[in-house]
Amino acid sequence: MDRTKSDTMHSIAVEHLVGGVNSPVRAFKSVHGNPIYFEKASGAHVTDIDGNVLVDFVQSWGPLIHGHSHPKIIEAVHEKMLNGTSFGAPHLGEIELAKKVKKRFGHMDKVRFVSSGTEAVMSAVRLARGYTGRDLLVKFEGCYHGHVDSLMVSSGSGLATFGIASSPGIPNDTVATTLICPLDDIEAVEFLFREHGQEIAAVVIEPLPANNGLLIQRNEYLSRLRQLCDESDSLLIFDEVISGFRFKNGSYSDICGVTPDITALGKVIGGGLPVGAYGARDEIMQHLSPLGPVYQAGTLSGNPLAMAAGAKTLDLLDEDAYDYLEQLGAIMEERVQSVLEKHNFPMRLVRMESLFWFSPGNAEPAIRADQIPKDAGTLYADVHRELLSRGYMLAPSAYEIGFLSTSHNESHILGFVEALDDSLTHLDWS
Ligand SMILES: *Cc1c(COP(=O)(O)O)cnc(C)c1O
Repeated sequence: MDRTKSDTMHSIAVEHLVGGVNSPVRAFKSVHGNPIYFEKASGAHVTDIDGNVLVDFVQSWGPLIHGHSHPKIIEAVHEKMLNGTSFGAPHLGEIELAKKVKKRFGHMDKVRFVSSGTEAVMSAVRLARGYTGRDLLVKFEGCYHGHVDSLMVSSGSGLATFGIASSPGIPNDTVATTLICPLDDIEAVEFLFREHGQEIAAVVIEPLPANNGLLIQRNEYLSRLRQLCDESDSLLIFDEVISGFRFKNGSYSDICGVTPDITALGKVIGGGLPVGAYGARDEIMQHLSPLGPVYQAGTLSGNPLAMAAGAKTLDLLDEDAYDYLEQLGAIMEERVQSVLEKHNFPMRLVRMESLFWFSPGNAEPAIRADQIPKDAGTLYADVHRELLSRGYMLAPSAYEIGFLSTSHNESHILGFVEALDDSLTHLDWS
């Protein structure tokens, strides 16, 4: 597969853009290659500037649950665009999308739209602190919440500790208010609540952690977090930016049977345009400006084109769409698993409906960040490269998950499985 033009453009891009990209995961650093320049994309496929057509399992990192440039979504956006691209004033599209969000997230009386997942979580945290009048946050190792200062934290020494900033540029004082726990370790959280319960504003978690592998949590664990929050009058924030709208029977909150106080959303809710949202019951949301003192604003918040893309995306997510995604996922899981076993390859496929992850190693799939083998990236880089050369694109990192969309079909999956089989044979793994 010739990628000369992409390579050339990358060498030009690095003169103008940092590392040639506008978001670091796109840089292909961990799979030792250059990024691929897309020219256009439709359904399950992207076409790069060298004319290669790839089957895409990245799908813009999650938003495109109906695949690239779905005709009905394009049509909805186009129609709205003719009336203006941005109003900075209320319009009907905001009410429409808010109603659809509330249908799925029953604990929300009110919704606030923003323009990214990062903004949604950042604002949810501010609201929780403003509402409780407390500063401390509890955050989990291996959960990603966007590049929010107070949540860009890795664990210090010891199991349940104050965190250390995981990026320069974040003041120590900022992360000093964030407590870090491993996932799936209820004693660690209990310890933090015993020590600091009355100062904890909120526990922030991806109920389905999906940014550092797919680390499926036990429901009892999530419900214990709910209890601990209740006992200390702390808020529980579910970051469903990646998991929101991925499940037939509602949100991940419905699946695990635990209702948070605030939910943050992004990705699918904008159908490929920039939308984030957060919502909660009235008692909490009334603290938000213009009703209350907690300030949060946005020039492009509730953008009419973005609201239209989101609303159409959610409309298209009927029961049949979810059944279809589950069916496709089941086929992928079964076939991929059997190829991995055939080659005795040290990876397992972890899947929940349309989300999947190649979990490294032969042991039970990880549910905590520290259970992921440290050398996970090495084998993955080989598999990624081989699949790419056969026309199948997975995320360029062992820690990122894959996404199925309603535009994928059985032949994409079977082709992928065949390419995987061929790749593993070629890698001469045994
Ligand atoms: C993607 C993601 C974010 C950040 O969203 P952006 O739109 O990239 O700012 C936050 N939390 C989770 C769980 C995510 O998956």
